[in-house]
Amino acid sequence: MKKNKYYCRIDGTIYNLKSIQEMIDSEERTGPIYISLLEDYKLPEKYADRLTYYIYEKNSIPADLDVAWDEIRDRNSQDNQNNQNSQSNRNAKNLESRKKPHCPKCGSASITVATRGSTLLYGIWGSNDPVNYCISCGYKWEPR
Ligand SMILES: [Zn+2]
Repeated sequence: MKKNKYYCRIDGTIYNLKSIQEMIDSEERTGPIYISLLEDYKLPEKYADRLTYYIYEKNSIPADLDVAWDEIRDRNSQDNQNNQNSQSNRNAKNLESRKKPHCPKCGSASITVATRGSTLLYGIWGSNDPVNYCISCGYKWEPR
């Protein structure tokens, strides 16, 4: 039953991600996974981003990327809601919204910052600079 753990449904198509599973197992979890998804599996960038993100967080391949991604998004928007509820002070809220980056593309506050410690986007940027990553639409940009 363990043999199927590297099959992943992406946008309705089942992919055999055996070589990706091997990379996860061998702990080579930096650029190569993302690059491999793009070049070996010819995944659209959007799905390669999401799958890489999932793999970094869960250390495994999801059976269905769309389902897995919905869960990540749900959890993220829940986090945002909790943050807002706990802020009764309006000034604190303003400060928070100024501090918190929003996606310049879709305006979502569900932003992850990939830094030196988390090499999620290393393959794209090829540097140790922090990179903002929008959970909602997958847009990436360098923080100012
Ligand atoms: Zn966005």
